[in-house]
Amino acid sequence: MPSDAAPKDGTGTADHAGPAMVTNDIEAQTRRIGSEIFARLDRHGPVLFTPSWWDDQLMGLGMHDPALKVQLFRFVDTLPYLRTGTDVSRHLREYLGEAKADLPGWIRRTLPWIPDGGPLSGVLAFTARKGAERMARRFIAGSNVPEAVAAVKAMRARRLAFTIDLLGEATVTETEADHVQKQYLDLLAGLTREVNRLPEEPMVDRDDRGPIPRVNVSIKLSALFSQFDPIDPAGTSRSVLRRLRPILRSAKESGAFVNFDMEQYSFKDATLRIFREVLNEPEFRDWPHVGIAIQAYLRDTEQDLRDLRDWVKDERNTPVGVRLVKGAYWDYETVIAAQQGWPVPVWTRKWESDANYERCTDFLLENVEWLVPAFGSHNVRSLAHALASAERLGVPRRRFEIQMLYGMADPIKEAIQSLGYRVRIYTPYGQLLPGMAYLVRRLLENSSNDSFLRASFAEGIPEEELLMNPADIMERIESTNSIAPPKAQGRPSLGFRNEPLADFSQEASRTAMISALAEVRSQLGKTYPLVIANRAVSSPSTIESRNPSRTSELVGRVAAASKEQAVAAIAAASAAFESWRETPVVQRAAFLQRVAQQFRERRCELSAWACLETGKPWREADADIAEAIDFCEYYAAEMLRLANPQHRDVPGEENAYFYEPRGVAVVIAPWNFPLAILTGMATAALVAGNTVVMKPAEQSSVIAAKFMECLQAAGAPPGVVNFLPGDGEEIGPTLVQHPDVALIAFTGSLKVGLLINEQASRTPGGQSHVKRVIAEMGGKNAIIVDADADLDEAVRGVIESAFGYAGQKCSAGSRAVVLEPIYDQFLVRLIEAARSLTVAPADEPGCALGPVIDAEARDRILRMIEKGKSEARLAYAADLGELANQGYFVGPHIFAEVPEASSLAQDEIFGPVLSVLKARDLDDALRIANGTPYALTGGIYSRSPKNLEQVRRRFRVGNLYVNRRCTGALVDRQPFGGFKLSGIGSKAGGPDYLLQFLLPRTITENTMRRGFAPAE
Ligand SMILES: Cc1cc2nc3c(=O)[nH]c(=O)nc-3n(C[C@H](O)[C@H](O)[C@H](O)COP(=O)(O)OP(=O)(O)OC[C@H]3O[C@@H](n4cnc5c(N)ncnc54)[C@H](O)[C@@H]3O)c2cc1C
Repeated sequence: MPSDAAPKDGTGTADHAGPAMVTNDIEAQTRRIGSEIFARLDRHGPVLFTPSWWDDQLMGLGMHDPALKVQLFRFVDTLPYLRTGTDVSRHLREYLGEAKADLPGWIRRTLPWIPDGGPLSGVLAFTARKGAERMARRFIAGSNVPEAVAAVKAMRARRLAFTIDLLGEATVTETEADHVQKQYLDLLAGLTREVNRLPEEPMVDRDDRGPIPRVNVSIKLSALFSQFDPIDPAGTSRSVLRRLRPILRSAKESGAFVNFDMEQYSFKDATLRIFREVLNEPEFRDWPHVGIAIQAYLRDTEQDLRDLRDWVKDERNTPVGVRLVKGAYWDYETVIAAQQGWPVPVWTRKWESDANYERCTDFLLENVEWLVPAFGSHNVRSLAHALASAERLGVPRRRFEIQMLYGMADPIKEAIQSLGYRVRIYTPYGQLLPGMAYLVRRLLENSSNDSFLRASFAEGIPEEELLMNPADIMERIESTNSIAPPKAQGRPSLGFRNEPLADFSQEASRTAMISALAEVRSQLGKTYPLVIANRAVSSPSTIESRNPSRTSELVGRVAAASKEQAVAAIAAASAAFESWRETPVVQRAAFLQRVAQQFRERRCELSAWACLETGKPWREADADIAEAIDFCEYYAAEMLRLANPQHRDVPGEENAYFYEPRGVAVVIAPWNFPLAILTGMATAALVAGNTVVMKPAEQSSVIAAKFMECLQAAGAPPGVVNFLPGDGEEIGPTLVQHPDVALIAFTGSLKVGLLINEQASRTPGGQSHVKRVIAEMGGKNAIIVDADADLDEAVRGVIESAFGYAGQKCSAGSRAVVLEPIYDQFLVRLIEAARSLTVAPADEPGCALGPVIDAEARDRILRMIEKGKSEARLAYAADLGELANQGYFVGPHIFAEVPEASSLAQDEIFGPVLSVLKARDLDDALRIANGTPYALTGGIYSRSPKNLEQVRRRFRVGNLYVNRRCTGALVDRQPFGGFKLSGIGSKAGGPDYLLQFLLPRTITENTMRRGFAPAE
């Protein structure tokens, strides 16, 4: 038993576990050590939960009442943003009111007593703030360096070691990243000055071989670079290291230890890469006082540890520390995986994380020469296993350490310490505002069903159960309280599932994109013909398509159809119509599925074409292809649904209601979703049984030619779909006005959309039908930023919405309508965030903002910016440097104090130009947001349930996004399209879309003959 080996007073100087303790029966030994730890605890006392109102409410009550827990945590998270007493009481009332039906009766009864303003609100606000602050202070050691130093001294007095972590807001701007670096440098200087002159405390200042660093800091790499993005490991590493090296240098010089914290899964490989890269540099290669957190809840962990060990052993030759934790982002990882359709990277049953923790523990202790372990856990079983394993392997007791979080599980810390082990406390410090997010994470963790602390201290589960081998308790846990990962809900259309986007945090996805770009580059400059009735047709003139990022690159030449060829294409489509109409729906649906398969097989290649031809950054290009696949699959499924006639039979009468196609469809597509929109409109028409003439945008004709290749490879019969690139002004009117055309599906500008609508409305002689026009036009979309918005999220969301694909989406958020109390603060961060964006050629993985589509677009946008300068204050304009000569680049522009009636606020610019408008209150914001002739997308960042409700009702747009960016609609999940001047027709990717391509018919048959009718 360890208690026999280690002095009970905790001065433990025994460095080796005695031979008597070494046993092969690791399980028995684990339980013995666990019991010893429990014996030293008081499990009945309030370990986490003090008798205060707040602690009881949030932790105790909330634990047993999930609805209350969520609402109270949300309230705590919002609290620092609330300025007045009235705001505080309003939010409390709203949060509790929202979950009213699920709340305990006594809370429901107190709801009406929450004051609505006046002095009582002030008292409530004061009490709430003080309570939350006190609670936060339980987990956060201080708000500045002197307070952190005082906390550290207090810990040392209890013979506890520390590692300090700086809490901060998300690093959204480069200025903030600089500030984080400075804070770490100040922290290191302040701590070493104070701590190194304190008398030595052998329990924490020495391991089995001698002195170890007294000062220990933990750092999150994403805080050091605002554009931290695993899609670009090299660029991310370069920028992080620029700020990290001075921190490491300072730590090395002052004899401190630096630990790299681990964040979400998508950052893991980048973090490991940077860790290895910098520690291989000559300056740091022989420095042993660095470590990294590794999360055992990930399926990759064992392999990562093996790679880390091999790297230290074979390359670096100086050991590094590994802090083994289970991981703090389990809910986030499972939600993201469910949203994206990606494999879940974490174990999904609690016992699996625990069991993996034990396997990784053994691995670390077996490789202690290279990887010096720190076991970060509050789980007595996990820790007891680590201690037992160390004893079995004869690892000196002081070689490794146990780490726990500040403010949590103090009795366990003391028990472990009393067994003679070094215990280090992870000690966050920082301002209350950013600290709230940390507090909420701790509260969630402590009150989670699967938390060891909750099970042992709040639920009073018996010791034997708590100490069971995770593998043995598998069945019990699964059948009781293990949380299942979330799954998508709702009715998928006939089994439709969105095609997952590429996960560029994975090396395989990045490598595939790099090779596809190289492969496609070797095919640039070719000439593509028209395709009419499946025959390649050349034409006297061609369209030249250039890479907007590098205008010297000719992507390809595409035949430009003449008016006569347009007529020929319509004739081919007319000739093919009858047999295509009679083709069974299942066959037409199967055709779309074959097209989707073509896309899947050529996924990276098509993304590379989109990237090079239309200047789409990697993620946007990939999303375009994924959406094209979705359209094929979704419309195939939808048509199969619609193909079932509706029967309403009565005795003697049969009634069938069903659909049939309209005829020849002309599809006129834009360049900004070069594959997705063209595919969406064309496949909807085709699966409905229409034949198609496709007129792609001039700027994206090469990708359109690739689409035509896919259609042919999928077996498109002659004439069913015809490829007719050309100059819109030249052939557009011919296509739109031709009497044999039944419908026009258009996506593009308002001006052209209205013109098409007008031209199509005329009914020339010989035309025996009225044409149907489906048009998706522009937007001047607004995002409202409420006074209580989470600014980290709002700034990021507005930046992404405004500048994603250089603002060239009809869904782009080109107006930010910001409530007055938060306006100045928001604008400062917004400008810095825009300044931090990487403007680059779209084929570079780190590109956040690429070029605009062509010279004409660039010149038009620049003219609108010039005009804007006379209307509002140009608050930010990016300097492009050399890029301006290389391609069609326009950097991000932000106009502030924009008058709502100005052209900046009213006209669609279709470029990276954002107008920021100030609103007095929510009513004013809604009036401004609704005050354009468009109604496409809109957004709101707010944490007030009541305001969100108002906005849901009164912000009249086709697609409203709450607390997220206003772009990136997914087929089926967010059917897309607007009204007013934003569009004619129903939403693409939605259940009504195909109806527009169909004619409904009813057939009624009188089945009665001479007084009798067939039985039903
Ligand atoms: C000193 C220290 C430093 C830390 N640094 C980091 C860090 O850098 N990065 C980081 O991510 N975390 C870090 N953590 C946080 C740590 O991951 C959490 O404290 C941990 O989640 C709690 O684990 P436990 O062993 O104390 O508790 P337990 O209650 O035994 O384990 C809880 C953990 O089990 C996992 N789990 C819960 N439900 C399931 C389920 N259904 N299926 C599978 N697994 C499940 C989750 O990871 C959960 O957090 C650190 C913790 C400490 C003590």
